[in-house]
Amino acid sequence: MLERLRRIVQQVAGARSLGQALELIVEEVRAALGTDVCSIYLAERDTGRLVLMATRGLAPRAVGRVALGPGEGLVGLVATRAEPVNLEDAPSHPHFKYVAETGEAPFHAFLGVPVIHQRRVRGVLVVQQRERRRFDEDHVTFLVTLAAQLAGVIAHAEAVGGLELANGEGATPEPAAPPRRRVLEGLPGAPGVALGTAVVVYPPAELDAVPDRPAANIAAEEAAFREAVAAVTEEFRRLQARLGPQLKAEDRALFDAYILMLSGDSLVTDTVERIRAGSWAPGALRETIEEHARVFDAMDDPYLRERAADVRDLGRRILAQLQAARREGREWPERTVLVGEQITAADLGEVPAGRLAAIVSAHGSRSSHVAILARALGIPAVMGVAELPIQRLEGREVVVDGYRGRLHVQPTGQVREEFLRLAREEEELRAGLSELAMQPSVTPDGEHVPLLANTGLLADITPSLTSGAEGIGLYRTEIPFLMRERFPGEEEQRRIYRQVLEAFAPRPVTLRTLDVGGDKSLAYFPVHEANPFLGWRGIRITLDHPEIFLTQLRAMLRANAGLGNLQILLPMVSGVEEVEDAVLLIRRAREELAEEGEAVPEPRVGVMVEVPSAVYMARQLAGRVDFLSIGTNDLIQYLLAVDRNNERVAELYEPFHPAVLAAVQAAVDGGHAAGRPVSVCGEMAGDPAAALLLLGMGVDSLSMSASSLPRVKWVVRSFTRAEARALLEEVRALEHPHEVRERVEAALEARGLGGLVRAGK
Ligand code: PEP
Ligand code: MG
Repeated sequence: MLERLRRIVQQVAGARSLGQALELIVEEVRAALGTDVCSIYLAERDTGRLVLMATRGLAPRAVGRVALGPGEGLVGLVATRAEPVNLEDAPSHPHFKYVAETGEAPFHAFLGVPVIHQRRVRGVLVVQQRERRRFDEDHVTFLVTLAAQLAGVIAHAEAVGGLELANGEGATPEPAAPPRRRVLEGLPGAPGVALGTAVVVYPPAELDAVPDRPAANIAAEEAAFREAVAAVTEEFRRLQARLGPQLKAEDRALFDAYILMLSGDSLVTDTVERIRAGSWAPGALRETIEEHARVFDAMDDPYLRERAADVRDLGRRILAQLQAARREGREWPERTVLVGEQITAADLGEVPAGRLAAIVSAHGSRSSHVAILARALGIPAVMGVAELPIQRLEGREVVVDGYRGRLHVQPTGQVREEFLRLAREEEELRAGLSELAMQPSVTPDGEHVPLLANTGLLADITPSLTSGAEGIGLYRTEIPFLMRERFPGEEEQRRIYRQVLEAFAPRPVTLRTLDVGGDKSLAYFPVHEANPFLGWRGIRITLDHPEIFLTQLRAMLRANAGLGNLQILLPMVSGVEEVEDAVLLIRRAREELAEEGEAVPEPRVGVMVEVPSAVYMARQLAGRVDFLSIGTNDLIQYLLAVDRNNERVAELYEPFHPAVLAAVQAAVDGGHAAGRPVSVCGEMAGDPAAALLLLGMGVDSLSMSASSLPRVKWVVRSFTRAEARALLEEVRALEHPHEVRERVEAALEARGLGGLVRAGK
């Protein structure tokens, strides 16, 4: 049964349209359970009516015609109860409703299970049997398991709008049909609104991620495809020649089979046919490979089924060739909106300066690194758009609403005008706030609270400078590492760090040592782990690789020559030993340089508090260094056990959770008990409401993206420490995060800062 389930889910996931997916489901389920009928009803988004979308066993003409209101009939009952209904004799049930069009009169046994996605019933899957009988437990669990696995696939296919395609199966849309829904919901990633042209980015050699796109020049697409095929054939010939003598006969035969498939077999002719029908080469290739692989997928013989993997592998190799040839001549729209399953820092780096208008990602949340980068660049981002119809967005005009976390596809006149107005207003607000840049960050009773900037891209140094930042509180050195194809050398790093240190001298610049792992992996240093956020990350990697760590430390120290404004920050520390080891290595790097005749100033060293154990050890950790910096992004993730990148649990990621506030307070107190200053460099520092509470906790300085800085300065200049402390005292009595937020926002509103808070959300 498990194997059967796996195959059905795999086949459905590979379907290119909703219609095809539903047909597959009813066909396969009826065969697997041996029932007379299998049907699927989907709930209409607006009305909740359950429409019969596919069936085997009921009258085909009823498809698309029969619809049941919410709660109507047995199907409606399953939907309102949101649980399975298993009946021996359906017609005798009080909820039974006879629908003549379906021709279901002769069926007695009924089993319906809801299809639920994100807590909402999306449809009902039904099997029926002529005889009177109760379906046994195996049937129920099979259907429930299948429905749970299919829910996401169905929701996605529905959003992608595959229905129209169902009629012209396999036809290449020209251009790709627009998605059915014009407004797509995600999560706010970075504030702001932007209008631009969608450019789909997809990972190299991943066929599933290739978007539909019409061919600009059919002859050129065909030529590119044929060249790619020739290159892969050549690659196989070379491999075969090199490995030939060591290979067993059957493995050699595999190479022959590959080469055969590439030389004029239907794989090539089918793809060329699709290109000639108007598709670009990667899209045509994806369609062909899927079609061929599916044939193997459906085979009963395990050996033949395995061949589907070979076909897909072949497809990936051809795609990689096509992509390599294409990368060079790429053109970027004036206002590029990057859209993809998972956008990376490296993707941002590919867009020429000044052309990147916004980011939209199917995965991730507000605290993902790419959202943080977007804030640093001052561009809006929408994350976690679960139903993002990526394949159909290429080249379309879109509006990215980073405040509400929405994507508007091809907005019509009025909506478009409204967003253009909003974007103008925002520009004005920014201009108004920029006047604050020159004002000091002092509370009304005269206390100075330094505000610093978070950076990582050389591109955001200028915004940081003009925002009035009093230094860099966090420079994420992994970002230049992510944008390269190998570890940058000592001199290369020195030059990058020097630019930042010089730009801000004599103001402090805090360079964090390499923090890769988790959601930041280096293509040239792959680490595969089941739980990357709990694995080899940050200081754990650098201590295990002193050669990487020492190169970085030497580059940092040398960049500080003659300046003296360097601070080194250690990420992901969970105990004192890591700090002791790191401090020793910093000392060693400095001694080595001195021996080489390069005397460099001693940097200040700090520890990030971002792991719960560090909260409890804050005093001891602080005692070993010069300062603490609280990384609330990870601290919240680890404290609340909520993956900061996982859109499914994004609602649980809550900076105003009483436990988070208590932990941050404990870290501040620990640092102060050791006589060391404490800063906050996580995103909480850039949220005006959270920053007010941090002031109340006694935090010494705050570091945030440059675009948040004016808003937070406004808060600092409006509240005394004593007022912030009193407010903190008040919210300590509250137990629900939303109550805390509402109370703090009310305090901001009362000071006339309400508009500021709303704009920042
Ligand atoms: C943090 O965890 O709060 C932090 C500032 O580091 P990063 O977001 O880079 O993990
Ligand atoms: Mg962190």
